[in-house]
Amino acid sequence: MLGFINMKPRLLIIEDEAAIRAGLTDVFVYHGYEVETAEDGKAGLDAALKGNYDLILLDIMLPGMSGYDVCEAIRSQDRDQPIIMLTARVSDEDIVHGLKLGADDYVGKPFSVEQLVLRAAAVLRRAGLATDDVTELRLGDLAIDTRNLSGAHGSEVTAFTRREMQVLLYLHAHAERPVPREELLSRVWGYASHADLETRTVDIHIAKLRRKIEPDPKNPQFLVTIRGAGYRLLSPA
Ligand code: CA
Repeated sequence: MLGFINMKPRLLIIEDEAAIRAGLTDVFVYHGYEVETAEDGKAGLDAALKGNYDLILLDIMLPGMSGYDVCEAIRSQDRDQPIIMLTARVSDEDIVHGLKLGADDYVGKPFSVEQLVLRAAAVLRRAGLATDDVTELRLGDLAIDTRNLSGAHGSEVTAFTRREMQVLLYLHAHAERPVPREELLSRVWGYASHADLETRTVDIHIAKLRRKIEPDPKNPQFLVTIRGAGYRLLSPA
């Protein structure tokens, strides 16, 4: 079972055919996504640039502005936006063109809905927005059960909030590097803007997490601050 870092991943479907749009909306809502739609390339691009989506399903053949152009325009603004292109055109050349423009995956129509849902989950997982394998995190003597939101240290049990667990899982998914506060706000909280007040929200959660996971919260050894770069989770197992 796939676990989402955001409890409801935000999905934008840019598709001009009403029947496909409605069908995809039903399927992804059923699978726990929050879905918004756009009917043409221009409206889709506007929504994509404003909406802070976790994933975009982008049709290629759209009125006005093609899916390729939409993809390129999104990429020029947001290098990391996960995008899956949908198309009736399935030549290798089209696929290469789409992937060159920065699509994360490419699904040919007619597609199997189940396969599309799996591909979407895979793209989110690669983006560090979903995890399907982390059920336990071990930090020193503390064993954290990510599903039950609890940590056990001997017979002592600590409860985590859902948000704290989302922060931990996101840092774990990106353990190879420090994660900036702004990235946590946008990827875990889903905030688009980064006012000072909001970055303090992150710091408050980090402080609470440290009280739960660190033997000495004032001298953290697992959830460390990398000055000027963000937070990093060290040696999680
Ligand atoms: Ca179309």
